[in-house]
Amino acid sequence: MIIEIIPCLSDNYSYLIHEKNTNTISIVDPSEFKACEKVINKHKKLDFILNTHHHADHVGANLELKKKYKSKILGSESDKSRIPGIDILLRENQKQKIGNLEFEVIFVPGHTKGHIAFFFRKEKIAFTGDTLFSLGCGRVFEGTHEEMFNSLNKIKNLPPDTKIYCGHEYTKSNLNFCLAYDSKNTFLKEKKIDIQKKLNSNQPTIPSTLDQEIKTNIFLRCNDPEIKHTLGLKDSSEVEVFSKLRDLKDSF
Ligand code: ZN
Ligand code: FE
Repeated sequence: MIIEIIPCLSDNYSYLIHEKNTNTISIVDPSEFKACEKVINKHKKLDFILNTHHHADHVGANLELKKKYKSKILGSESDKSRIPGIDILLRENQKQKIGNLEFEVIFVPGHTKGHIAFFFRKEKIAFTGDTLFSLGCGRVFEGTHEEMFNSLNKIKNLPPDTKIYCGHEYTKSNLNFCLAYDSKNTFLKEKKIDIQKKLNSNQPTIPSTLDQEIKTNIFLRCNDPEIKHTLGLKDSSEVEVFSKLRDLKDSF
């Protein structure tokens, strides 16, 4: 499984997946036709389009790509009316093959009602869209804070060495937020150095690993006593801490 990162729009990432044995080419969240086509053209084909959710910056190139390459579009069953050109409807925990690769569908509502993540268990790779970002999480647009919290927990329970490929390069602003409310976290300070190195040389900060996120992403650390203390929420539940953090980040 070879993954090529395709920067799109101002801060989106689309991902091309090449499975060599059967020469199957797939793309995750194609947002911009030109940028994706440039990479796809090297392979002269596109078999599958995988969408994490219905937002335009994730499905923007669906129809043009489908028309040009006769690709099949896979997306959440509950978003079948909102994902342009959808062919294959995916349900929670369903296993689906693209060539020789198999992924599991993780239903992660919150950012949108039908948001899904793709988990390739054998390869330990997850595409998390706008649910889990490096050092952050998506805004809660259509669901409740509790739904988003539960969705993040589903991802948190994947194997720790899972590589996380998310939908946006938001790492720098996420880092600043984490530093503001989790200033004593030594793992975060280490990650900061790594992030700055990558950004200074114009490299994506993606992929991250789940293990790193659990140690540094404040939205996965809602039970940390130090963070609870900083927020003045010593006796609050994890989901209450999460909601507070999400609200603070919305206006950060
Ligand atoms: Zn989105
Ligand atoms: Fe997005």
